[in-house]
Amino acid sequence: MVKAPDLSHIRNIGIAAHVDAGKTTLTERMLFYTGASYKIGEVHDGASHMDYLAEEQAHGITITSAVTQAPWKDHLIQLVDTPGHVDFTIEVERSMRVLDGCIIVLDGVRGVESQTETVWRQRNKFNLPCLFFINKMDRPGADFERALATMRKRLAAEPVPITVPLPDASAVVHLIDKEVIRFCGEKGEQLATSVCDEVSWAAVASYRETLLLAIAEADEALADLILGDVEPEPRAVWKALRKATLNGSVHPCFGGSALRNYGVQPLLDAIVRLLPAPHDRPPSVAYRPDGERELVAMDAAGPFVGLAFKVQLWDGRRHVFVRIYRNFLRSGDHVVVPSRDGRMIQEHVARLFDVDAHKKTRIDQAFAGQIVLLAGVRWATTGDTLSDPKHPLLLERIETREPVLSLAIEPASSEEEEKLLEVLDKLQQEDPTLRLDEDPETGQRLLRGMGELHLQITFERLEREFNLRVRSGKPAVALRETVSRRANAEFLFAPSYEHEQDHVSLKAWVQVSVAPLGRGSGIKIIANPVVKPEGEVLSTVQHEAIEEGARDITQNGPFKGVPLQDLEIRVGAVELFGQASTADALRVATARATRTALSKAAGVLLHPIMNTEVVIPEENLGTVLGDLQARHALIQGTNLVGGAVTIDCDAPLDKLLGYTTALRSLTQGRGQFSMVFHRFDVA
Ligand code: GDP
Ligand code: MG
Repeated sequence: MVKAPDLSHIRNIGIAAHVDAGKTTLTERMLFYTGASYKIGEVHDGASHMDYLAEEQAHGITITSAVTQAPWKDHLIQLVDTPGHVDFTIEVERSMRVLDGCIIVLDGVRGVESQTETVWRQRNKFNLPCLFFINKMDRPGADFERALATMRKRLAAEPVPITVPLPDASAVVHLIDKEVIRFCGEKGEQLATSVCDEVSWAAVASYRETLLLAIAEADEALADLILGDVEPEPRAVWKALRKATLNGSVHPCFGGSALRNYGVQPLLDAIVRLLPAPHDRPPSVAYRPDGERELVAMDAAGPFVGLAFKVQLWDGRRHVFVRIYRNFLRSGDHVVVPSRDGRMIQEHVARLFDVDAHKKTRIDQAFAGQIVLLAGVRWATTGDTLSDPKHPLLLERIETREPVLSLAIEPASSEEEEKLLEVLDKLQQEDPTLRLDEDPETGQRLLRGMGELHLQITFERLEREFNLRVRSGKPAVALRETVSRRANAEFLFAPSYEHEQDHVSLKAWVQVSVAPLGRGSGIKIIANPVVKPEGEVLSTVQHEAIEEGARDITQNGPFKGVPLQDLEIRVGAVELFGQASTADALRVATARATRTALSKAAGVLLHPIMNTEVVIPEENLGTVLGDLQARHALIQGTNLVGGAVTIDCDAPLDKLLGYTTALRSLTQGRGQFSMVFHRFDVA
């Protein structure tokens, strides 16, 4: 019998932030202080890892989610890297799913920004215990108090300050230990602590008050002390704070500057002291194939459950990162994963690895709570549950997003056609939001993704990692259509055949009505028709054929030939003609009647509308607003913080193509924007 290892000293965490808040800088400092970055300096084997880094430098964003280990004070912090750009939201979500806790980094000048809100929503989905690092406190205009206020206002979070930066920089006051911590040495690696003097303490007294009130809420015994004006012991404060952090009721905040090397070590301490070990997390909800709910506790006993959260090519071979939720896995084991059509397919786990950045070490087994890399697994992809063949289960599925932008592509040289298809197939496996389709009309290959940057990075990877150059067409935006009024139509399907052998006659009559529905309603098909002649009933097969006939049409609307949405299709009446009313006859009659009704219902085109946030210097507000209005943006609001204005708007994606360049020239390179798909709507 194998014994499960003690994981109480492991912290699986991720760092998330709005782009440019300082996630990469903070990560580097954390790795430096824990000594882990020395390993990063020793890279020579993983060429692909270097490629990732090169791209990251080129774009200033993080696009890979490997696991990096950082030892700190008898604990092992495992950083699961989360990407920082909204184009990769799905990656953020899938990595959040397997974390036990997270750090959200804020810019001390800007406070909460649009992507902070996005990661916060994802954090809420899994009620992930969470610490905040208020970074860039060295910048003029940084304001700790205001940053906390934006957390309350925009996230409805409960910020509890733990370290407060002092105005003279490179020092923080620790509110629990009541010490001033100075960060000395070349990279702030030496800490000089001293008892907080009265002047500094007076400056942070109100923060200490906030902290005490928050823990009083969490712990009744402490509440009595605090209300009686007795100072609680630091140990008791930590304990209450941990409890409140784990249940998600408070969010401890740490101030500092990653770039100027201060404030980071107290955050590392807090990761160890406040964030959960794998076994401290509540059970996850899973579903059996029959839909029955099952709670999966992080436990060494019970049928095996794991979740694939990243597929990565390693030395050209397919590898899958898996978080184990229950039981353990050994090399040679068989598991099942769901196929696209919902069946369970067997997988053979050939090898298991422990991963630290670019280095993988073979292991024989891995237990609940651990994150491992698997080789030999052929089908499992991001978001798939791996389970015991005798007890198949599905953890809640991560929602995938519509790729709303596409480009026609072809290899620069035609000999590379096959290689391109092969490589794109691999990339699609790594990233399910990337899709390769064929345009049915032109036969061109279309690469679909979630935005311009997403596709651009894909092309760069093709070139850098696979030495493949592609030619691409203009970006095209995914469209939908709907109807704007009610209409109905009937169709009698009664073909006459000239050929002798086709003596089977087909006949069916169907009446259909269509009507518009509100945005986001999808397609509703109602097929409970009145059946003629009276007394006849539809067989199950006939009934299904009618529904299929109506559904077939919805991929290809009569107005612009794009998928339909937001409408109701009601099959009102059907006339049967005995044997001649086969399933095929009914399907065709329904499809034709539906198509005619749709073409009479005044079709309208729907465009992808993006929730967009633009941050610009105040002096550019007039020009940028004017330009946005010319792009048909609907301005929701503007907000002035520290000389920068944030504009919230909804804009059609087609009008935002190339906006990066436009905004740069309108703001002398200082403006930034981010967007996320919201809905299909009239533009
Ligand atoms: P990420 O996009 O969240 O990964 O942010 P980065 O770590 O790449 O940082 C974005 C920019 O902010 C870079 O130019 C950093 O040098 C800068 N930066 C990061 N941390 C700080 C900080 O504490 N203070 C200041 N002044 N700049 C910082
Ligand atoms: Mg970064």
